[in-house]
Amino acid sequence: RNLKWQMECRSDINRLNAHFLSIYESLIPPEEEKAKQKQLLTLLEKLVCKEWPEARLFLYGSCANSFGVSKSDIDVCLAIGDADINKSEVLLKLADILQSDNLQNVQPLTRARVPIVKLMDPVTGISCDICINNLLAVVNTKLLRDYAGIDVRLRQLAFIVKHWAKSRGVNETYQGTLSSYAYVLMCIHFLQQRKPAILPCLQGMRATYSVTVDDKKCAFFDQVENLRDFGSRNRETIAQLVWGFFNYWAYGHDYTSSVISVRTGSVISKLEKDWTRRVGNDRHLICIEDPFETSHDLGRVVDKFSIKVLREEFERAADVMHYALNPCVKLFEPYVPSFD
Ligand code: ATP
Ligand code: MG
Repeated sequence: RNLKWQMECRSDINRLNAHFLSIYESLIPPEEEKAKQKQLLTLLEKLVCKEWPEARLFLYGSCANSFGVSKSDIDVCLAIGDADINKSEVLLKLADILQSDNLQNVQPLTRARVPIVKLMDPVTGISCDICINNLLAVVNTKLLRDYAGIDVRLRQLAFIVKHWAKSRGVNETYQGTLSSYAYVLMCIHFLQQRKPAILPCLQGMRATYSVTVDDKKCAFFDQVENLRDFGSRNRETIAQLVWGFFNYWAYGHDYTSSVISVRTGSVISKLEKDWTRRVGNDRHLICIEDPFETSHDLGRVVDKFSIKVLREEFERAADVMHYALNPCVKLFEPYVPSFD
């Protein structure tokens, strides 16, 4: 199919590539947005340090992993050395401090899976979520950012995939579809699997970075400036990779027995992870292993209804890439629910 597609589309492959690249470029946040994020972080640091002089703030998520599109919210982690603190108390205290400094829409969500305080800064217009001591997220943010530093095609592919997922309504974990974090891991895995590979497996290489967080050892090769040529033997372009990505998830992935694993740079079996049956709410209908919390399946939010939605969307996207006259437009057409 790959060859057939290339033959059929050769006439418009250059145009298609240019179109995908221009979409990618239009999604990159402008420098002034980054400056505003820094400004807000500096303000938050000042406020937090008054109450907790030893504490530190870290950016994580899409504002720090290089997969953030323009106008994203920012995710901040407040690291308080003491592991025994009561997170709810800290969050409520933090909410008080923020409120009295004129930050807007301050909302402590102490009962969420990851408890946070939400806020909006009227000066920069940026919204922000602050969590407490979620250092694994800070470390997985670094892993994603380091992968992005190896080959620009990862960032291009992930921007297109995230943009597609948001347009088609399949980036909503509360509705049983996947998080942005899960989609980026799917992109990394896909590029590790290309032949020749476009990305290496950083956790399978000599560790140059190593931290222990919540008793989990997180170690990987992080001198990515030495890996800039890694993918150069593979000349695939963004249009081919977008097609390949959707084709893999539509027709190539074995949903019954496979788990994708960025940690090992390969596909592993559900059997090996004991993810073959439903346990509690975890149904393991699409399996994406977290690179550090290896017992954690990022597909666990997917249920028997949403797996159908997801797979139909992957098939639609693959077919659009294969047959549509103008895939770049059709791919991102907003999903409109029908009620018949
Ligand atoms: P968006 O642009 O959609 O905001 P994002 O990169 O911020 O994308 P989210 O899915 O909102 O992605 O997640 C923010 C960060 O939280 C991730 O980068 C990751 O570090 C962490 N994270 C999110 N979901 C999980 C999860 N299920 N397990 C572990 N870490 C997670
Ligand atoms: Mg985010």
